[in-house]
Amino acid sequence: MAGIYIHIPFCKQACHYCDFHFSTSLRSKDRMLAAILSEAQLRKTYLENQTVETIYFGGGTPSLLNADEIHRILDWIFRHFTVSPSAEITLEANPDDLTYLKILELKRTPVNRLSIGVQSFRNEDLLWMNRAHNASQADYAIKCSQDRGFENITIDLIYSIPGLAHHTWIQNVQKAVDMEVQHISAYSLTIEAKTAFGHQYARGEIQPVADTASEEQFLSLRHLLQRNGFEQYEVSNFCKPNMHSRHNSSYWTGAHYLGLGPSAHSFNGTGRQWNIANNAQYIKGIEEGFPMFEVEVLDEKTRYNEYLMTRLRTSWGVDVSYLMHTFGVDILSTEKEQLETWQNNGLLLVDNNTIRLTEQGLLHADRIASDLFIVKS
Ligand code: SF4
Repeated sequence: MAGIYIHIPFCKQACHYCDFHFSTSLRSKDRMLAAILSEAQLRKTYLENQTVETIYFGGGTPSLLNADEIHRILDWIFRHFTVSPSAEITLEANPDDLTYLKILELKRTPVNRLSIGVQSFRNEDLLWMNRAHNASQADYAIKCSQDRGFENITIDLIYSIPGLAHHTWIQNVQKAVDMEVQHISAYSLTIEAKTAFGHQYARGEIQPVADTASEEQFLSLRHLLQRNGFEQYEVSNFCKPNMHSRHNSSYWTGAHYLGLGPSAHSFNGTGRQWNIANNAQYIKGIEEGFPMFEVEVLDEKTRYNEYLMTRLRTSWGVDVSYLMHTFGVDILSTEKEQLETWQNNGLLLVDNNTIRLTEQGLLHADRIASDLFIVKS
């Protein structure tokens, strides 16, 4: 089983918190799409004939593509790779792009899952984050997509927004529940250095939300969604029964994936590869036959630590037998004291063959994982 990720590196405007790779100039869009198709052809053996079970258009803003462009990319992928007839094909879409006609067009493509970048149902938050859409567009995008037959919709929400009162956050989550989406990804706002918020923070104009308030919002999110039939299968991801993101789950379960487009990452089991995060240089490299990318061969230590870091964040947890078979490490013995400490503090559960985080543990997932790295960096 394998996946393909396609990075569409264009956005209408820069959201103040965003540190993904994108450009607000669409001048090179046609050349970019041609370069992505060429890259797919150049790298058609990367997945070694594994069946592609998921295709994911991410960005940037893939909903800036029209239906013809989406068809062209997918036809090309279907021609060069073995794609399962039941593949999950996700397109990230911003609400302001999801007009009635656009949704009709999208429904005629093989895209069968929409990831709608709602972020908040409140205009104040959307304005503050410099999102291109407003609250009523978010509402319309979800309803119209549902009415036109999209049965697998995920939305993104952001919490820990300065000025977002706790009860208002709850209203945001409740609104998502009421809209009957199948999946919700919720992220705590982080202030990254090279973003507009990062610059405002450096000038002392904004302050991040206190950890306690952030944790309170996370726990309320979890409780409200669980009461409404959602399963938390990863720290930031919640779904109705059997509606997990197959694409993201494959990242966490070690499946191989090919990343196309600038800044896209690939993984083939032994190494990671990432394309240059620069539109002009990406296109030039492909056009001239010298694609620009970096490769990292993953040593055993890195693979072990990555497994712990990703799996501990999921509801599947860390498989003790897998660590023994793959790395020859009996974590229950080598980390006995550390595991007991976290268990006594109510942060971890160890049962038979699996190590999982408790609710409190979810708040400290990354720290616990790094403390459990068997080979310290
Ligand atoms: S639309 Fe998405 S990728 Fe583009 S700037 Fe906003 S958050 Fe970043």
